[in-house]
Amino acid sequence: MKRTLACFLSLLLLSTLFCVPAQAVGEKLIAITYDDGPGAHTARLLDGLKERGAHATFFMVGQSAARYPDLVIRVYQEGHQVANHSYNHSQLTSLSAQGVRNQIQSTNAVLDQACGAGSTYMVRAPYGSTNASVRQAVGAPLAFWSVDTLDWKTRNATSVKNAVVNGAKDGGIILVHDIHSTTVDGTLAAIDVLKDQGYQFVTIQELFRRRGVPLENGVQYTSCPPNGMDLGPVQVPSVTVEPAGDKLRLTLSAQEGAAIYYSTDGAPLNQASARYTEPLLVTPPCTLRAVAAFNMNGSRSEVVAQEFTMPITQAPTASLQEGQVALDCQTPGASISYTLAGAQSSDGTQSYTAPMDLTPGTTVTAWASANGCLDSAQVQYTYSQLKNLFSDVHPQQWFYSSMDRAAAAGYLQGGQNCAFQPNEGITRAQLVTILYRATAELPDGNGAPLPFPDVPASAYYSGPVIWAWEAGLVQGYADGGFHPDQPVSRQELALIFYRYLLHSDVLLSKGDVSGFQDAGAIPSWAVQAVGELSASGLLQGDAQGNFSPATTASRAQAVQLLLRCVDYITVEHLPMPQELRR
Ligand code: ZN
Repeated sequence: MKRTLACFLSLLLLSTLFCVPAQAVGEKLIAITYDDGPGAHTARLLDGLKERGAHATFFMVGQSAARYPDLVIRVYQEGHQVANHSYNHSQLTSLSAQGVRNQIQSTNAVLDQACGAGSTYMVRAPYGSTNASVRQAVGAPLAFWSVDTLDWKTRNATSVKNAVVNGAKDGGIILVHDIHSTTVDGTLAAIDVLKDQGYQFVTIQELFRRRGVPLENGVQYTSCPPNGMDLGPVQVPSVTVEPAGDKLRLTLSAQEGAAIYYSTDGAPLNQASARYTEPLLVTPPCTLRAVAAFNMNGSRSEVVAQEFTMPITQAPTASLQEGQVALDCQTPGASISYTLAGAQSSDGTQSYTAPMDLTPGTTVTAWASANGCLDSAQVQYTYSQLKNLFSDVHPQQWFYSSMDRAAAAGYLQGGQNCAFQPNEGITRAQLVTILYRATAELPDGNGAPLPFPDVPASAYYSGPVIWAWEAGLVQGYADGGFHPDQPVSRQELALIFYRYLLHSDVLLSKGDVSGFQDAGAIPSWAVQAVGELSASGLLQGDAQGNFSPATTASRAQAVQLLLRCVDYITVEHLPMPQELRR
């Protein structure tokens, strides 16, 4: 019994090993190719192919393509392959290499009008007549055929149908001409018969891609028989949509190896369309069209078209009202939902009704919904340990406690919707303002004229600028101005804080800048300041040991340095007796 079971198991194992095919054998594929058009019957043919879900390859004569530009566009847009059959149906073997190139390139230029610059086109030589020098001059993959229907000779729909059906083989390439009405009728009838036999009608490009056979320039192909491999049709790209402020973020993805082409203004797609590289931000109303392609000309997915018409609910804003956190939404009739995390966390989503008493250290994640609108983006507010409300400063960030302390001490004030912009560069006006607030010295200008023409008396920073100038922390520029909105570099930051500490009569440790990897980049006027601040433990380099002197200092970096200096002044480094302190 045991032995029988073992036998059975090993048989099962063997059958598992040997009976499951390594690759899907795949479907029966066939490429029908229409030469010499486009022409008077091509539109009717396209209607018939569309009805049958069949794709084909059109070897166009350049001068006919130039006569029917709208038909070229239609062939391309409906997912067929547009290909090159010379400009005026010349016998290429009778031409010079340059003559062959002229035939090919002038036709490509016409086809590019529909397919976009940068497209690639297979070539079929008129009469199938090639030789080595023609193939080299063509510089593209060439197509011959496995079935010649002689449709141009018989001019009889039934004969054409029979020739196609009788000649059909998996992987075959069938030659017909769409300039004959009888060919349109005969091939559409043949497609119906062959579809019932399980054939799928694909472009030549798609036939070879699905079977993993690369098409090489200068090589002429006759067919692509089944080889055990079928990579399957090109999958349509997937689209995910999420709100981002007052815009929508569209994230597209396609199967491996496929590129995505898209437009957001509803424009049809071709080789010259935008290539997707990163999520798109769009403002409704708009229309996204996207397609995944291994080759836009003949090996691509169906086009995804999505309209975005609904407006987006505005994201909730937050404010502190007598110590409570209040949420608001500008979109009429919107309701606000939120969750809590951190010191106080909530189970699941709650509906906002009235200002909330929150435990300090709690983060609120909120979003708004309104009828007829897409939900807003999620926004996060932190009600901090020191009872500030932040929209862009959160507990996991390195500057959280410095920003919290500086805001609680009143050195720093938030802007609209509790934004403190920690990663923005600090301006000269902002820097002297936080120093002034931390010092709380009143300027003794007393109605004296403002030293700088670009500092209006009404500006919030006019008092701080006067104070900083009188204290020797800052100077004006050669043009006589203060340049209040100019960002402060890290070397300037060091110099201004150095002067601030000297002004506060503290002792600094002597030191130089040799500890920084980029010491040589620090200008001489900043060396003493950077050296003494770092020797006193107030300044540090980044993880690589660089000071990055010319980089703009962020608001968070300035605040962190300010707090270190404030502590340095108050805690231990005052050399003078108490009564002499300023
Ligand atoms: Zn021809």
